[in-house]
Amino acid sequence: MARLTLEALRKEYDRGRVVAVEDLSLDVEDGEFITVVGPSGCGKSTTLRMVAGLESPSGGTIRIGGEDVTDQHARKRDVAMVFQNYALYPHKTVMQNMAFGLRMSTDLSKDERRERVRETAAMMGIEDLLDDKPDELSGGQKQRVALGRAIVREPDVFLFDEPLSNLDAKLRTTMRTEIQRLQNELGITSLYVTHDQEEAMTMGDKIVILNDGKLQQVGRPKDVYENP
Ligand code: ADP
Ligand code: ADP
Repeated sequence: MARLTLEALRKEYDRGRVVAVEDLSLDVEDGEFITVVGPSGCGKSTTLRMVAGLESPSGGTIRIGGEDVTDQHARKRDVAMVFQNYALYPHKTVMQNMAFGLRMSTDLSKDERRERVRETAAMMGIEDLLDDKPDELSGGQKQRVALGRAIVREPDVFLFDEPLSNLDAKLRTTMRTEIQRLQNELGITSLYVTHDQEEAMTMGDKIVILNDGKLQQVGRPKDVYENP
């Protein structure tokens, strides 16, 4: 795990006609869990995609553990992302899905990779699903697998893009508790995008409010909502 720092980050589309992210500076301390809220189109996804290396910033700097990774390829970055639609490989088993990320990012042998996957699966309560394919799983199980696939890599930084919004209310509460438990056990440096203010309040060490590509407010949940 490591500190994540964004310095004056900027992203333009359509040769500058759209400014998706503007002058965004933010420090996520080692082990800190920051939730990001704001209206649709305010730049939440674009910010995560830049940190993941899926999109190049038009300006500014991204540092992980002090190292400038702004121009580093996504595959070289020790960043894991969990998506709303799970993004699992449909033709691979749960074991293969979870082991795949490990193959890209570590020098472990095949046996060691499988062992790491089994340990993580046990921690997530999905050890019985390892031979299943994604379409045999419920939405909640798929999201556990997606979460497990990210966790097994032990990344420096975790990015969550509305991971619970496809789940029903009950499952959302269960998974929220699960993520909080993992956060307490593992101390994951995280940016967690959500449109659910209550989720942002209860999960975040801090909340970031984005508006029109700009950071409008950042602070502890209590301070942000008492002094809007
Ligand atoms: P959010 O995740 O908060 O809904 P996004 O980061 O997806 O917001 O989008 C921020 C802004 O950038 C929006 O105005 C969106 O239309 C625009 N945008 C995002 N991706 C692209 C793209 N590939 N091309 C052009 N405009 C984009
Ligand atoms: P989100 O639900 O995260 O806000 P969107 O539905 O806004 O995502 O965008 C989904 C995809 O479409 C993204 O890859 C984004 O880059 C792209 N996109 C968003 N807005 C635009 C746009 N105005 N022009 C082109 N692509 C866009």
